[in-house]
Formats: sequence, C-alpha cells, structure tokens
Amino acid sequence: LGLPEVPPPVAARRASRRIQVGPVPVGGGAPVSVQSMTTTRTCDIGATLQQIAELTASGCEIVRVACPTQDDADALATIARKSQIPVIADIHFQPKYVFAAIEAGCAAVRVNPGNIKKFDDQVKEIAKAAGDHGTPIRIGVNAGSLDRRLLQKYGRATPEALVESALWEASLFEEHGFRDIKISVKHNDPVVMIEAYRRLAEQCDYPLHLGVTEAGPAFQGTIKSAVAFGALLSQGIGDTIRVSLSAPPVEEVKVGIQILQSLGLRQRRLEIVSCPSCGRAQVDVYKLAEEVTAGLDGMEVPLRVAVMGCVVNGPGEAREADLGVASGNGKGQIFVKGEVIKTVPESKIVETLIEEAMKIAAQMEKDGVAS
Ligand code: SF4
Repeated sequence: LGLPEVPPPVAARRASRRIQVGPVPVGGGAPVSVQSMTTTRTCDIGATLQQIAELTASGCEIVRVACPTQDDADALATIARKSQIPVIADIHFQPKYVFAAIEAGCAAVRVNPGNIKKFDDQVKEIAKAAGDHGTPIRIGVNAGSLDRRLLQKYGRATPEALVESALWEASLFEEHGFRDIKISVKHNDPVVMIEAYRRLAEQCDYPLHLGVTEAGPAFQGTIKSAVAFGALLSQGIGDTIRVSLSAPPVEEVKVGIQILQSLGLRQRRLEIVSCPSCGRAQVDVYKLAEEVTAGLDGMEVPLRVAVMGCVVNGPGEAREADLGVASGNGKGQIFVKGEVIKTVPESKIVETLIEEAMKIAAQMEKDGVAS
C-alpha cells in the first residue's frame, strides 16, 4: 500500500574530518567516544593516575586533566606516559601551559578562547608546536566564559555567539594551516546547546565534542545530557561526548555509555527490560528488577533480560528477550530465547534468572558474541 518506510533510529553520521587523540580516532565516522575529567589535583600524580585507572575500568576512552598551575604542568609528562587512555590537558588563562602540555606528550590540548586573553597573539607558535608534535587542539567555548567582545555584541551567550567564538578561534589556526581541531560549544541549557551545535555542524567539518556544561547533580545532569545528546546524536551530530555531573566522574562515564547504547551507537550490554508495575502486578517488580540488575552487574555480553510483573505483557516481553520472567500466582515462568524452560516459586526467581544468565553469557563468550 505504499506505506512510508520506518526511518532508521539514528541518522547517518555527519561527515567530519578525523583527528587522532592518541590512539583514539575522533570524527570521520569513528565510533563516538566517551570522555570524562579527573577531579583530583593534577599535580598529585598518584591520585590522578588512580582516578584515571578507575575511569578506564568503567569504559572511559579519553580523559581530561585540569592544568591551572606550574606544578600541574610539571606532572603532565608522567601522567600522559602512565595513563592507559589518552590524556587531554585542559588549559585556561595561561598560554605557556599549552606549550608545556604539548611538550609533555599529552594526546591533545583543550583551550578556551574566552579565557586566554593573549591567546590570539600566540596562535602561530601554538599551531607550529602542535603541528610539529601531531597534537590536536580542542577549541572549547563555554557559555560561562564567553569572549567579552561577543558578550557585548550578542548581550548573552546565544547559540550564534558560541558558534562565532569557536569559528573565529578556528580561523586563527587555519591562517597558519592548522586544522587538527575539534570544537565544543557548551551551554548549561540543553535548548541553547542543541541549537549551537546544529549551527556549528552546518558551518564547519571539524569533529564535535558534545557537552552540556554544568549540567547539575546526577539526576538533573543525566536527563539534561541525555536529552541534548539524544537530539544531536540522533541527527548524526557529535563525535565524542562528555557528560558533566556534580558526581564522581565514573558516573559520567556510565551515563555516557548508556546514552550511546540507548541510541544504538554502541553495542548494548546488559539491558534490563522491566515493567513499571501496576495494579495487576503479582510480584514486587521494583525489588525483583533491582535484585536482578545487581546480580548481573558487570556482565559484558549483550544480554536482554525481561522482568515483568504479570501475564498481560509478561510472556510477550519475556519471549522477545534472551531471558525473562513473567510472574503470576506466586510463581515465575522463566523464558530462555522465547521458550518457557521452567516455572519456579517467586522466592527462586532471582537466583534462577542469574543462573540462566550466566549460562547464556558463557555460551555467548564461547561463540565470540561478547564485546
Ligand atoms: Fe502491569 Fe503486568 Fe504491564 Fe507490569 S506487565 S505494568 S504488572 S500489566
């Protein structure tokens, strides 16, 4: 009947040039990478490396470290050498630390044009040093530190102002033949941020680092980031992401990975499909879902587990999943790959699901399905 085709869930990625942040490609169709930033004092090398190790274990692919003092700049070489993932030095105010970070072997340097007053005069030397070392530069424009000129011109940090600041800075590098650049235009308001990135995406082919700056505590920041990144990534915009939370950085990484998995931009690992429960539920769905989630935490295989409260949608969802339970009458029907394999009393549902999940995971690993 000529029904319209269902569009793919995520649009084709925007064509962008590719840069290398150490071994991690960014842009040019490379997988969207997840970043975070350490919260330790960078000059405390042991604590910083410890936090980087924790971030690496949680799936972080690129890490940024602040560099506000000479002691921090002096620590960069050791941190860059010993970190398991590429280290980006984050520089505000002091152009001299840009040179220090490049010399230290950092995988990239982030500069904020609004916060480096003398920066424009030194672009030629920075472009030369970065070019000689193969060090990309992120031009990181931030609503909270927008160039005074642009604040006067636009009155506030509008999408136009953020984009103009970034492209102006990029043009200074381009004058010296340097294009090893990625750009961010962060704002704490997802609506402004989305519009800024959309405009930027149309006006250049640099890879884009997405971020909602100062997104807030974990709950609010997670939602703001998911909404903003979802809107942009679903249109193919964005090459690397950082979720900013007022929470431990490992939490940022978990949220970032979950956003990418939700959009199908990264292979899903453990996915719990659980119902919200309602007046028909015959088990405590919240408790069941929590216990199953906790019991399967850390599982590396793409396993979909359905935890359903009653027989209305239960059997259907449980059948669609790799593994599932449909509860009712104090019992749980356990499904594996669509087939009921057993019925167990309610008290045995969690342990049975975990046991069966382990068996499926072992088989997946044997078959090379694990990511
Ligand atoms: Fe309610 Fe059953 Fe649907 Fe869960 S599966 S929300 S208990 S109808």
